[in-house]
Amino acid sequence: MTASRSARERTAAAEAGPLATVKIDVGADGQFVYKISCSECTVKGDRSWSAYRPGGDNGFMGAMDRWIFHLKEKHPGADAPCLAFLPEAQRRLHERRQAQDEGATRSDDASRPGRPPTRG
Ligand SMILES: [Zn+2]
Repeated sequence: MTASRSARERTAAAEAGPLATVKIDVGADGQFVYKISCSECTVKGDRSWSAYRPGGDNGFMGAMDRWIFHLKEKHPGADAPCLAFLPEAQRRLHERRQAQDEGATRSDDASRPGRPPTRG
């Protein structure tokens, strides 16, 4: 568990690029919690910008998608391997929006960090 977690952490950090700090915790329910922070941006005082997602591969993708959008928006000149996944991230965002339009509450605002997702 611990070994695979740090291996994932390294992989995610490599993908996220030099501006990101990737941390994977294990939540109270035993599942991974992915946190990607920006080393340059702060929000509300001194907290660094971060994307935070619990879950397995879904959590990883969710956090990475938000990081990709953050890079595009705030650091357009930055270079990171994860930017190769921008089209996929945009497609997933579009699909999530569509799914939300079909009934669920709209709670996942990409510009608001630190909010846990409502997930069924
Ligand atoms: Zn940033």
